[in-house]
Formats: sequence, structure tokens, C-alpha cells
Amino acid sequence: MNGERTLMSKSSSLPLVISPLFPSPDARFLLQNGSLFCEDIDLSTLAAEYGTPLYVYSAGTILDHYKRLDAALGEIDHEVAYAVKANSNLSVLRLLATHGAGFDIVSGGELFRVIKAGGDPAHCTFAGVGKTRDEIIYALEKGIYSFNVESEEELRYLNEVAGELGMIAPAAVRVNPNVDAKTHKYISTGKSENKFGVDFGAILDLYERASKELKNIKLRGLQMHIGSQLTSISPFIEAVEKVIPLVTELKQRHGIEFWSIGGGIGIVYQESLASGAIDWWQNQPEDERPLTIERYGKELVPRLKDLGLKILLEPGRYVVGNAGVLLTKCLYEKKSSAKTFKIVDAGMNDLIRPALYEGHHEIVPLVEPKSRERFKVDVVGPICESGDFFCQDRELPDFQPGDHVALMSAGAYGFVMASNYNSRPLPAEILVEGATATVVRKRQTLEDLVEGEL
Ligand SMILES: *Cc1c(COP(=O)(O)O)cnc(C)c1O
Repeated sequence: MNGERTLMSKSSSLPLVISPLFPSPDARFLLQNGSLFCEDIDLSTLAAEYGTPLYVYSAGTILDHYKRLDAALGEIDHEVAYAVKANSNLSVLRLLATHGAGFDIVSGGELFRVIKAGGDPAHCTFAGVGKTRDEIIYALEKGIYSFNVESEEELRYLNEVAGELGMIAPAAVRVNPNVDAKTHKYISTGKSENKFGVDFGAILDLYERASKELKNIKLRGLQMHIGSQLTSISPFIEAVEKVIPLVTELKQRHGIEFWSIGGGIGIVYQESLASGAIDWWQNQPEDERPLTIERYGKELVPRLKDLGLKILLEPGRYVVGNAGVLLTKCLYEKKSSAKTFKIVDAGMNDLIRPALYEGHHEIVPLVEPKSRERFKVDVVGPICESGDFFCQDRELPDFQPGDHVALMSAGAYGFVMASNYNSRPLPAEILVEGATATVVRKRQTLEDLVEGEL
């Protein structure tokens, strides 16, 4: 089941004000005098000036998340390697680079972006099951910290390419700890049946063989990542406890220096979990409450601190997910015998999470309606696919054609997964810092759509 939905929903009793706890205690999207703001900017003014669909990110929220995570691990030698694939806008990367983040990349293109943004390749780890020769050469030449390899075949190939260049490739193998992350099946990665990593039981032998045979590899660490959007602490604990004996042995035998425990920290997508149900979840056992970063640190730090290893973290969604929204305009209201559809100008090509893995996004009018009444509607995009919806049969406050709404929590796996499907230009992206809003990616034009075509 989708971790986002395992907790109770009380949407019909939601207050219209956005709780300061939603989407996270430090997120800077709040209603002020009936208008939704991002930091000190009224989102309606951005929608009017730059048009929709429009992604808007809060720099302050991104930094708060990054700093909270950094602080939660403060007691131990650690490094936060932001998972670039969650949101790879150059300005987002630059913001994190300036505050000392490393980066976890999954392609040569992401390494290119990190370098453009002023990030240091020596603080980059390179993940992914299908690295190409060109990508390996590029990363070797730039001097990345570690190739996180996913199979023996890949390790041997890395050795071969490094040999041809007369270089030594720093590497870590990704262990698959066979732990159930209890998240959506498309974003679970740490079970034996997933395509990721090397079986737990095969790791020691692989390191033995590699250290004897692969002269152009330096075994620098061990990596794991069990899945994304984990909303409970127990899979993290289970995986860490299972791998501790292994990583201890690898340190003794092969002198490895780091252990990356991956990303995957889940965020709160549903306001009902933060506000409407706050009394409800504060009375729940700690295990059943939404995971906080402080709890993550409290549980993991004592288990990790005496290993004598540098601990790497690869958070993506946690850093940026609740730091972004997608603004869209309602174009039409269409009533059928069974349903009311609100047709908006954003589609699944702009934000695919609901269609791809049943992702939930709160939908908030930019201007608070007069009435507190709620109406059961489907909010759908203009794309010719039945999967093109943002919610179905959800009780929402009133909004009409011409009004703008925000799809909340769209900062991670939003723009980066956008496509030109249906020949729709990609939306613009804005970064807000206090009272300043900067266009950090221009909206594509119709000419951009055919660029490079014959
Ligand atoms: C996607 C990914 C991450 C980031 O996952 P989040 O759920 O966004 O934190 C970290 N490490 C690896 C190897 C990944 O593939």
C-alpha cells in the first residue's frame, strides 16, 4: 500500500486554513488574510505574472529541511548527499551546494548539472543500475567520490574502463538487505525481487574477489537504499541492524571508510495528517505517527555512531517535496450525471505522481473562498488519458473557472518527471527567497517544442 494513505483521512472535517504544521512544521506556504503565500510572496501575483502551470519553490523551506537533517545526524561523522533526481533545477542545486551539501547522482546529465551549479564532484556519489561507458568516463575524469555499483558485472566493467584510462575507480556496492519498506510497490527497492543492489549474502564474497582481482577498483564503502516515501521508522531500523555486522566486517577486511544508508525519508502529503487529525495522531503510539526527521536521527544515530564509518545520507523527497507547489488555473467545470469535473490547465505531463503511483497532493485555492462549504469533485487535466487526474471524488472548497489552485507538496518528482506529452511546453519554475521571486527556468515556447526536429 501507498505509505501516504495508510493513516486516517478526515478530509470532510478539514478546516479551511492551512495548519502551520502542514505540509511540514518548517514549510513556508501559509494562508495570510485569505491568500496563499510562499514565504513573503502572494502566489496569486505569481500566477498572474508568469501564467500557469507554474512550479514555485521555497528556498527557505529547502534549507530548513536540509539543516534539520544535518542537525539530526550532527553527533556523527556524516554527509548529506542530496538525491538530485528529486529536483534538479540548477538554482536548487546551487542553493544546496552553497550550504555544503554533497550530491547523489544517477546519470552523467545530473553530474553535469551539479558541476554547472557549482557543486563539487569530490562530494558526488553515482548510483543506478545502468551506467554507460560514456557516463563512467565522464565521472572518472571529474573525480567523483564513489561509484555505487549494483552488480558484479558493473563492478568488473568499471574496473575495465578505469584500467583503460589508467585510473583507479572508487566504488561501493549497493547491498539489497531484503527488507520490506512498506511503501508503494513502484518505489520499493530493498526487496530481493527488486532490480536493485546485490544480495545481502553475496556481498562479502564479492568484496573478497574484487579486492584480489580488480586492480583498478578501490573499495571505498557500502551503500543501501530500501525505497522511497517511507513513513515509518521500522524498515530503516531493520535494514540498519541487519547490515551492521556486514559493514563492520567490510571495514575490518577491506578498510572501507563510508556507509551510505540511502534516502527514502517520507513526507506528509495529506493535510488531514497534520491539522484536522492532529489530536488524533498525537494520541497514537509513536510508531504510527508520521515520521519526523528528529525521530529518524534519534533512532539511527546511537546505532551508527560507534562504527567508525562516515555515514552518507541520500535524501531527495524529504529536502524538496514539501518545498514546492504547482499552480494551475481552473478552465472549465463540467458536470456529468455521476460527477463534477474541474478541468485545470496542468496535466499529468506536468505532474505525473497521481497517475504513476497514486500520489496524493492537497489542492488549495490561492484565494480562500467565502463559504466553508465543500464539494465532491474530480480535478482533472487536459491530457487525452483517463489517468490524467489530480484527485477523484475529493471534498474540496469551492473554486470556479478562472480561479487558481495550488497542488501542494509538488517539489519532489514533479518538474523532473514532466514531459512534452500532447505537445505541451514545459512549465516555468520560480524560486522564492523571502520577498524575492526569481524565474529559475523559463516556460518553454512553442518553438522550443520542435527544436532539433526535421
Ligand atoms: C531515488 C534515490 C534516492 C532518493 O530517494 P528519496 O525517496 O527521494 O529520498 C536515494 N538514493 C538512491 C540510490 C535513489 O535511487
